Amino acid sequence: MNLVFLGPPGSGKGTQAVKLTKEKGLTHLSTGDLLRAAIKNGSELGKKAEGYMKKGELVPDELIVGLIENEITGNEILNGFILDGFPRTINQAEKLKEMLANNKVVLDKSILFDIDDDEIVKRLSGRWYCPKCNASYNYPAKMPKVEGHCDFDNAQLKRRPDDKEDVVRNRLEIYKRQTKPLEDYYRKESILVAIDAKQSPDEVFQSLINLLNGLN
Ligand code: AMP
Repeated sequence: MNLVFLGPPGSGKGTQAVKLTKEKGLTHLSTGDLLRAAIKNGSELGKKAEGYMKKGELVPDELIVGLIENEITGNEILNGFILDGFPRTINQAEKLKEMLANNKVVLDKSILFDIDDDEIVKRLSGRWYCPKCNASYNYPAKMPKVEGHCDFDNAQLKRRPDDKEDVVRNRLEIYKRQTKPLEDYYRKESILVAIDAKQSPDEVFQSLINLLNGLN
């Protein structure tokens, strides 16, 4: 099963991708996570990407396509994957199509996480994560047991710098301008399915499972 998760920032793609990869034995590939790791390691890619990410802008296509190409080529990922946060432009989608065709792999579905802007701003302003194990929390919907500390390793929780409200608004604008056209792109390819991402995380997960079971 090869899936693309499509949807605005804060729609829950990452949380659901982590759960679904465990359940279905898929590989989860998040370009956002890969870029944040590159920044942490101080790599060339990280240095080039950091400025764009801080402002909530998209990192240039050639950097992202190179990153994905590296992950895909000769990798286990081709046994089944969830792409989370990629593609984000029509050009990236075209490049992905080419890469998959070269490896004789097809995309089964593009799942759209449907949610409105106000809910996104509310969610992202309450989002915290653990810098050690990457677990995510949300105030007040999913609080840690001890305020400000991770349930799994007790590390001090952090906020993503691009979750500040003005940056979130910019990310939403950019989503509408550059990424939303992918909804039509995948609709035309007849592989777009939408789920209601405003539901609770458990309900969204159940919707995903129902949807995928229906495909088998
Ligand atoms: P995310 O974790 O998916 O919200 O991504 C965080 C940030 O990483 C985005 O706001 C972009 O700056 C950058 N980014 C992640 N994926 C892509 C992509 N496919 N194309 C361009 N920029 C990306």
